[in-house]
Amino acid sequence: MKSARSPVAVWRGRDLLDNKIVESTTVILRTRGCRWNRCVMCGYAQEGVDASAEDIIAQFISALKKAEGSELVKIYTSGSFLDPAEVPEAVRLEILRSLRDMGVRRLVIESRPEYIDRTALEQILGLMDVEIGIGLESSSDLVRSHLINKGFTFSDFAKAADLIHSLGGRVKTYLLLKPPGLSEMEAIADAMRSARDAEPYSDIISLNLCNVQRNTQLERMWQRGVYRPPWLWSAVEVLRESSLRVPLICDPVGAGAKRGPHNCGVCDGFVADAIRSFSLSQSRSCLNIDCTCRSVWRKALELEDLSFGTPLV
Ligand code: SF4
Ligand SMILES: [Zn+2]
Repeated sequence: MKSARSPVAVWRGRDLLDNKIVESTTVILRTRGCRWNRCVMCGYAQEGVDASAEDIIAQFISALKKAEGSELVKIYTSGSFLDPAEVPEAVRLEILRSLRDMGVRRLVIESRPEYIDRTALEQILGLMDVEIGIGLESSSDLVRSHLINKGFTFSDFAKAADLIHSLGGRVKTYLLLKPPGLSEMEAIADAMRSARDAEPYSDIISLNLCNVQRNTQLERMWQRGVYRPPWLWSAVEVLRESSLRVPLICDPVGAGAKRGPHNCGVCDGFVADAIRSFSLSQSRSCLNIDCTCRSVWRKALELEDLSFGTPLV
């Protein structure tokens, strides 16, 4: 049973902060959820409840117990932290003041571009160092609007990123590896091109590997056999071959599961670990790994393009 007084999840981890590995805490607050709620792969809205300002503060206070000693705190909402309908302005400010008083060095939040305005930014950036994650997914307007149904343009993203930078904030750009409708090969090319296009607007780029969430359009495509989540080898390829001036990170959530990014079943664990090590160190040598299924992946890349993108393995 979902309680409006307890967060969706809280966990400790390690993250990069100014090229140093630090202790971090991630908190997912339960709010009313994303107002857009139309992206084909997203089931986050199902986590939403009618949470009042007091409920959200209660969730935050309970999450804080786990955050002690964290230099970096990430607060996500299954939507946009800067949408006042999800997180009222007074709650937002109370959360930031508490984190600042605890000595947290950086807060990471997420928002769609339409909620990133000067007033909200001046308020939060006047309190502490904040990195704002924007789910660009792809730099191609065609892929983002037609295949993902994201509802904003590259230019909306660029304007929001410029505004954040002009006021002293940081931008974390999320890219989606393998939106539906792209073959594995096209997905790799799209992610690499998107990373290059997003680089001038980003302080860090996070490659998200597509998962099949329940009760989504993507789940129906997957059930019909016209969608396969990305191979972990495809993520390795993007990370290894992209040469950027900003860190490129990836947390392979759901790696090895049939709804998540996966290889052959034997190597998924160590390939996911290698991706995590790369994300912390940015050292390509972490990705010098192999498995017999790598040749199957290569063959699938070639043949899938000839079969008009229908997944083969
Ligand atoms: S904008 Fe984000 S939270 Fe909202 S539907 Fe799209 S992916 Fe989900
Ligand atoms: Zn394998």
